[in-house]
Amino acid sequence: MVMHLFLKSLIVAFVVTQIAIFTTTIFLHRTASHRAIKLSKPVTMAFRIITWITTGIRPRQWVAVHRVHHAYTDVPGDPHSPTIEGFAAIQFGNVYYYRRTIKIPGLVERYAKDLAPDRLDSALFDRALLGLGIGIAILVLVFGWQVALVASLLHTVMYLLLSGAINAIGHTFGRKTYDNLATNNNWLALLTAGEGLHNNHHAAPTSAKLALGKMQLDPAWPIISLLVATKQAKIRHSEPKFVNPQRISREVAPS
Ligand SMILES: [Zn+2]
Ligand SMILES: [Zn+2]
Repeated sequence: MVMHLFLKSLIVAFVVTQIAIFTTTIFLHRTASHRAIKLSKPVTMAFRIITWITTGIRPRQWVAVHRVHHAYTDVPGDPHSPTIEGFAAIQFGNVYYYRRTIKIPGLVERYAKDLAPDRLDSALFDRALLGLGIGIAILVLVFGWQVALVASLLHTVMYLLLSGAINAIGHTFGRKTYDNLATNNNWLALLTAGEGLHNNHHAAPTSAKLALGKMQLDPAWPIISLLVATKQAKIRHSEPKFVNPQRISREVAPS
């Protein structure tokens, strides 16, 4: 009985985490941070709601932290560099570095000027605990309080570890296809809706598609293609625009 409840909670948590991860990469990352995609109003609203009830993240804060990461990659000023802070600090404590960065006075306003809060933010989306409470309430209604409680805890751990992995593993080991400080890991891309192809992303940050070579996995791309086919999304460039197209193709491991 206990085992059955745990397994059910694990499956629910995995699905909720994947919904949050797909939303993070398609909406917070590729759309809001890099403008690689333009989404229709209804889809934008759906993603704002999903972000709110599965993560409690305020998009403008996430976007600001992420843009600072691109501006100061693995140099002083990077909000979450494993090279500077150490691998374990970012892998397991990513959220601490995120929160530390959003507290820097004026940083969010400066780096997310285009995402000034609107009335819905003040009324709903800036209230993280309300959003997460609604998310948990939905799980309670559908699966009962025991599964809802365990699944919520497992989801929190999975989401934080996967987010940490993109920033820690994606700047420490894997394959460097292009000449930049990040790495590609297909296995991580499979778990993070394509974000594990982080070397590709630093090479072409405004590309809506993260898989740029054969055998690379970007699970979010079919969803984006479906949104494009149904006229709910537009892609900024049909071909990736590289900031540094220099190819090096080598495996790297932590020194
Ligand atoms: Zn990076
Ligand atoms: Zn990015």
